[in-house]
Amino acid sequence: MANVIIIGSGPAGISTALYTTRAGISTRIIGKDHGALGKASEIENYYGFSQPISGNDLITEGIEGARRLGAEIVTDEVLGISYGDKLTVITKSGEYEADSVVLATGTSRTAPKINGLREYEGHGVSYCAVCDAFFYRGKDVAVLGDGSYALHEALELLPTSNTVTILTNGKEPEFPVPQNIIVNTSIIDSIRGNDAVEEVHFQNGETLHISGLFVAIGVAGSTDLAKKIGAVTQNNKIIVDENMSTNIPGVYAAGDCTGGLLQISKAVYEGARAGTEIVKYLRNNDRKNTSSFS
Ligand SMILES: Cc1cc2nc3c(=O)[nH]c(=O)nc-3n(C[C@H](O)[C@H](O)[C@H](O)COP(=O)(O)OP(=O)(O)OC[C@H]3O[C@@H](n4cnc5c(N)ncnc54)[C@H](O)[C@@H]3O)c2cc1C
Repeated sequence: MANVIIIGSGPAGISTALYTTRAGISTRIIGKDHGALGKASEIENYYGFSQPISGNDLITEGIEGARRLGAEIVTDEVLGISYGDKLTVITKSGEYEADSVVLATGTSRTAPKINGLREYEGHGVSYCAVCDAFFYRGKDVAVLGDGSYALHEALELLPTSNTVTILTNGKEPEFPVPQNIIVNTSIIDSIRGNDAVEEVHFQNGETLHISGLFVAIGVAGSTDLAKKIGAVTQNNKIIVDENMSTNIPGVYAAGDCTGGLLQISKAVYEGARAGTEIVKYLRNNDRKNTSSFS
């Protein structure tokens, strides 16, 4: 049976699932937490509630509704996506194959305020190891972050780089450190260089010479995941057409990650649109596969 993986269990992801499950498509939703709604104490501008509802109650109801219709809900963190014969979603605890993937992970995280970080974006500062590792082959690189996502990016760089250092910027790493990766926990003062990144300066006066710095703080955001499979992004938003389809066949995006009005109603609409389009896409694919065998 064709299957879809929805990354994100917020309003956009859940809304997508309502349409795919009811069309008989095997649907797995992978979400890390309650997303933006987990921080919203009172919602009173969403249809259907006579009294304000808390963000947590709204999202719990949504998740239970999708589960009742047959969606599988997995609590996990997605670290990456790859594109081969099928789409593969890589999480902290394993890998899942899918015929279609929906990116519904909300707005991207903001980068930390470190002097030089923004200035060197595209000139040594990258947000995607799998996209840019090639440019730094044989060179010394660093990954900024302290969680599983940072480790995942460091392991992605390891085969091609000379050295890989994870910079936790004052935090303790949340992962067991592999032997071939260096961890530096010092607090960063600034990123410096001429035309491109050359050095990281720490508050303790030390300096690390690198050619590339890969930012991987917190969890992978929508645009981080989109870039890994070559989906077009602009200004931290995923570019979609009117059907919520990205430029990658079978990959859709919905909700805050596509920009515009950052509200529940818009996320729910885009999820519904993505869900109905995925049903068409997978049924078309099924027809093509069936006719090629007949
Ligand atoms: C404090 C606050 C108050 C708000 N109040 C209102 C309001 O009153 N009315 C209104 O309409 N809107 C409000 N909003 C905005 C609203 O919450 C968002 O527009 C809406 O939740 C967007 O839905 P989404 O599904 O796109 O993203 P989100 O709701 O952010 O859901 C994102 C999902 O993706 C998951 N995720 C992210 N990264 C990963 C990863 N790497 N692996 C696995 N899962 C991942 C998260 O765990 C979450 O499940 C508020 C937002 C905030 C922060």
